[in-house]
Formats: sequence, structure tokens, C-alpha cells
Amino acid sequence: MNHFEEYCTAFVQSVGSKEGAVSPAVINSASFAYGTPEIAEGIFDGSVKKPLYSRMGNPTTAKLESIMAEMDGGIGAVATSSGMGATTLAVMSLLACGDEIISVGGLFGGTYALFSETLTRFGIKTHFFDVDAFEAIENAINNDTKIIFLESVGNPNMRLPDIKKIAEIANAHGVVLMVDNTITPMSVLPLKLGADIVVYSTTKIISGNASALGGCVVFRAINDGEDKFKTPRYNFLTKFIKGAGKMALIPNAKKRAMRDFGMSANANASYLTMLGLETLPLRMDRILNSVEILAKELDKNGLIINHPCLPQHPHHERYLSDFKNGCGTLLTIDMQTKEKAFLFLNRTKLATLTANIGDSRTLALHMASTIYRDFNQDEKEFLGITEGLIRVSVGLENPKDIIEDFLMSAK
Ligand SMILES: *Cc1c(COP(=O)(O)O)cnc(C)c1O
Repeated sequence: MNHFEEYCTAFVQSVGSKEGAVSPAVINSASFAYGTPEIAEGIFDGSVKKPLYSRMGNPTTAKLESIMAEMDGGIGAVATSSGMGATTLAVMSLLACGDEIISVGGLFGGTYALFSETLTRFGIKTHFFDVDAFEAIENAINNDTKIIFLESVGNPNMRLPDIKKIAEIANAHGVVLMVDNTITPMSVLPLKLGADIVVYSTTKIISGNASALGGCVVFRAINDGEDKFKTPRYNFLTKFIKGAGKMALIPNAKKRAMRDFGMSANANASYLTMLGLETLPLRMDRILNSVEILAKELDKNGLIINHPCLPQHPHHERYLSDFKNGCGTLLTIDMQTKEKAFLFLNRTKLATLTANIGDSRTLALHMASTIYRDFNQDEKEFLGITEGLIRVSVGLENPKDIIEDFLMSAK
């Protein structure tokens, strides 16, 4: 039985059209003609829903956005040029100089650099915590805290957060919870667990074949009654709530970030991403099965494997209770030394060595010498990067072939 039956129906039905071109139309125009000055005025004041200019929105991309919003149960979404574009759009739409972020869990390298380096240059401070440091997370919240940021699965430390509990902390203090759900689309539904904003790199499992760089941010609706977005902490939203009501987070993101930073998605990437969505549930389902088979078999053969399906993993219980639909395509192998890791990567005939994840093919990479090469020892320790660590993203191959190749490569 497929974990994701309902998405199989939803995705193929909403990507294809019942009339005219079945495959989504790629609208490759950077600009759009308005026809009359009255319509131009209406488009700019928001009363006429037509394309303004491709930096602010594109019809092909709009179709992708509506499917992504539906996947997560959001009110709307904004697609971006990359996953980092999505995170940048989402955070910059809520932050100003002097604000603070609380970052929870093992973090994607680019996001870690954005928070620890780049945003620091603009007077924005980030506090980093482990997923289980609930008390410290709560104690770190103050009047300047605008965002609690969380990754659904620690990449590559494979630690699993208690998203519900962290959402309860965020909600009790009226702070936004933003979840990077790149690794677990459909498996984890952050908005249903109490998060406010979800960010994706669609480059990974959503596209699935290294064909398109892209990202997407999904927003929840603003509530009719009380809402954390109506409190003084987010007072810059007042004018958008007045203008757009429950949709307010969309114009806020477009006008406070997209318009000026320009991390807009392009129509070709949006098209390819939709083709990926059509088969996402099938690919995800197969890979989730393969990951467990592979983790258990390699563990049985004496390799040091990090995946929460293994009973020795500190979050094994949480995996069984909160991650019934899997935790993505990753596992790590600790070969203990750089030399042994390199030997493995030179021997494997099956794995493709690249920094990507979530591909149709099995991918592998030595972490300390590549993505994390510029990080100091303390940072590497916090992020779980050891000298012999290889990250593996399992692909669609026959799991027997992957096991055979990996056991041969690890000899
Ligand atoms: C890859 C990745 C990103 C960044 O996405 P790009 O599309 O490469 O910009 C962000 N978060 C996670 C978890 C990722 O794996």
C-alpha cells in the first residue's frame, strides 16, 4: 500500500488540464501587456488579478504555487528561484535589524551560513539549539524573536524534532514557527502540526531528477479572530491584513522580499517541477522502503549507519510514532576516517558523487571535505559532521543492487 495514495490522485489531476493542452503551458514572457491604463491601475492596486511582471508572479509558476499550497493545506504559496531563495524570502519578509531567530536542530549548510554569517551583517542574531533543548529554546524567546526555524529532519545529523511540541512553545509565546520541509514533503505536514510557514527546496525530491533548481514557501491563512500575526510583534503586517485579510502573508512576502531581492521562479523550472510532482508520491514511497532495507542491512553487516529506523538511534521511538510516513531519502555512513571514506567513494560504481539529495539516482558525498569544509570544529560537532561521514541519498535503483555495491565498496 502506498503511503501517499491521496497525493497520487491530487497531483496528476491538478497538473494536467481536461481541456486544451494537457501538459502545463510554459509562459516564457518576462513582462505582460495590460491593454488599458484602467486595467494597469487595477493590476497595480490588486483589484485586477492579472500578471504584473514576472519578477512578481508568472502564470506557469502560479499553477505550481497552487498545487504546493494544496499539498500542505496552506492558503497560498510563493515559488522561488532556489531553496535558499525560499528561505531568504520567508525570513526576510518577517525580519528587520535588531530582530532574532531561534534555529532548532541540525541545519542545511546554506541556511546555517545565512543565519550565522550573512544575517549577522544586517544586525539579525540567531541562537542555535539542539532539537531536544526545549527549555533552552523557550528561555531564548524575547520581544525581538520573530522566527523559530526548524528542519523536519536534521541533514545530515538525522535527528528528528518533536514538531508538535516546538509548535506549542512557539504558539504559547506568539512567535512564528517556520519549518524547512525539503526532505519530507507529504510525509510531514508542518501546518497541520501547528507551524505557520513551510519552506522547500523543490530542487531535491520534488523535482527528483536534477532538472530544475527551485524553491517554494507555503503560508497559512491569517485567522479571523485572534492571531499571532495581529500582535505588536508583527505590527508591519497590519496594512497587509487590512488589504488582503487571510491572504496577508502572500503580499507581505512579495512586497517586503520578492519585489526587492528578486528571487523569483522562472516558468521553465516551474514546469519541470510540476512534472516532478506528478510522480513524487510513487518515488517517495519506493525510496522510503529502500532506505529502511538499506539501513538495516548495512547495519547488520557492521557498518556505522545513522538512520532513525535503527533501534540504537536516539530518536527511534519518535520515528515510530511521529514519522510513520518516513523521514526522507537520507542516511549516513560513518567510515571513521577520511581515508576510508574516500576509499568507499572511489570504489562505489553505483553512487553518483554530488552535493544534491532526493534524486532518482543514489547519491553520496563526503561531508567534511565538501559542504562543511569551511566550518570550524565546534560548528562541525554541533552539526554532527565527523571526519569519515558519508551522506547517502537513496535512489530508485533495486535496493539489492545498492546493498551489494555498498558492501563491496566498504570492504
Ligand atoms: C538543498 C536544501 C536547501 C537549499 O536548496 P537549493 O535549492 O539548493 O537552494 C535548503 N534546505 C534543505 C534542507 C536542503 O536540502
